[in-house]
Amino acid sequence: MSATPTHEPSFRESVDLMFTRAVALMDLSPGLEEKIRVCNATYTVRFGVRLRGGIQTFTGYRSVHSEHMEPVKGGIRYALGVNQDEVEALAALMTYKCALVEAPFGGSKGGLRIDPRQYEEHELELITRRFAYELAKRDLIHPSQNVPAPDMGTGEREMAWIADQYARMNTTDINARACVTGKPLNAGGIAGRVEATGRGVQYALQEFFRHPEDVAKTGLSGSLDGKRVIVQGLGNVGYHAAKFLSEEDGCRVTGIIEHDGALFNEKGLNVEAVRHWIIKHGGVANYPDATHHAKGAKVLEEVCDILIPAALEGVIHLGNAHNIKAPLVIEAANGPITAGADEILRDKGTVIIPDMYANAGGVTVSYFEWVKNLSHIRFGRMQRRQEESRHQLVVDELERISDSLGKTWSLSPDFKQKYLRGAGELELVRSGLDDTMRIAYQSMREVWHGRADVTDLRTAAYLVSIGKVAASYRAKGL
Ligand code: NAD
Repeated sequence: MSATPTHEPSFRESVDLMFTRAVALMDLSPGLEEKIRVCNATYTVRFGVRLRGGIQTFTGYRSVHSEHMEPVKGGIRYALGVNQDEVEALAALMTYKCALVEAPFGGSKGGLRIDPRQYEEHELELITRRFAYELAKRDLIHPSQNVPAPDMGTGEREMAWIADQYARMNTTDINARACVTGKPLNAGGIAGRVEATGRGVQYALQEFFRHPEDVAKTGLSGSLDGKRVIVQGLGNVGYHAAKFLSEEDGCRVTGIIEHDGALFNEKGLNVEAVRHWIIKHGGVANYPDATHHAKGAKVLEEVCDILIPAALEGVIHLGNAHNIKAPLVIEAANGPITAGADEILRDKGTVIIPDMYANAGGVTVSYFEWVKNLSHIRFGRMQRRQEESRHQLVVDELERISDSLGKTWSLSPDFKQKYLRGAGELELVRSGLDDTMRIAYQSMREVWHGRADVTDLRTAAYLVSIGKVAASYRAKGL
């Protein structure tokens, strides 16, 4: 057991501490260790936009953590708390995440210090286009060098503006659309990207529950069915994760924590209804059918089976880690548990499914979108009907045999319908994401169970990903 930090480190220090803890178990040269750990470059830009009769100045960042593979990849966040430390921590996590799920990218991240709720849509477009211009002219947005995606406070709309801005600046670039991912479907996006991170959280939990020995470490048993879930942040990631887990896996979402407080109902909350309430009223206050807690973060400490922090970093810290009762925490957000809290939770026996794995669904489907943009063709376009006609041949033949045997048996209509349908883009994206989440879990699990000195999934995840990054650097002759 190592000593718990007595002060709360910054987000970047937290990531460094976790990295250092893992590399201590590896056989890397100190030089290579340092090369992998440090952030290669962070660009800070301050730009002015003419708004509301004056000029407003904004501060933005784009950080490149590791270029062992290019392009580098990572979201752009819009929030008032954005700062260099945070962007660098997030860029480092992107490096490890991409390596873990075998998305062929280095790690990057961007951020703009802004509260998007304070601006009208046309103002946000002006600001986003100007930010994109500043980054693109330095190749910090570029299909083969640096490919952003959505993160907190941004979504499809912002990605479409960024793609269009890049295309205006690079009118002859045939691959311009691949300069950013998370775009709307009609602007070069891919089916299933919006929900991808939440879907990945669901697939991660499904894979965890396929291994009874792993589930036993939490003191839980059985399947996801009936498990009590508390989710923090009902934004893109938290909403989709909570929706799929409750609608498809039988989980009971007992708590939802938002920026203005939390809702709790032991019998379970209707995720869709809460989401609509938030969109209409701007928060969870006064939502019927639940107890409202003004101090939302306190609900992180309620009894539940699975806790899903899906909002901000550092929400489980030295001050509340001792009170966390969930035996299983899945980090849908990036960095929700500080290094000190991580130590406390591990000592208590809490199982943590780490961020670099848990929320990798977004970058995985972004990778598919980037490939789609570079190949200029929708997934499934060539094979779908051919697959259907081959399946039709099998069905026709089976029915012919059935006829010749006097129709003593027949294929059920449900089977026929499902079997005959060829896979379209959405089915292929889901299949690719599910496969990625299963394989990445198994790679962590092998280390978790296979090494006596590795007692948690986060360290296992770091060992797998740092090993891959190190191999890339070595292959480059470093
Ligand atoms: P989002 O902006 O769509 O949603 C964030 C939600 O958290 C919002 O509903 C917001 O109201 C809520 N929130 C803000 N402050 C809060 C507080 N103090 N307490 C509780 N809730 C609060 O953002 P998102 O895209 O869902 O991202 C959430 C997390 O997931 C971030 O850590 C992000 O880095 C990570 N992530 C996102 C993606 C993606 O594809 N969007 C991919 C990987 C990781």
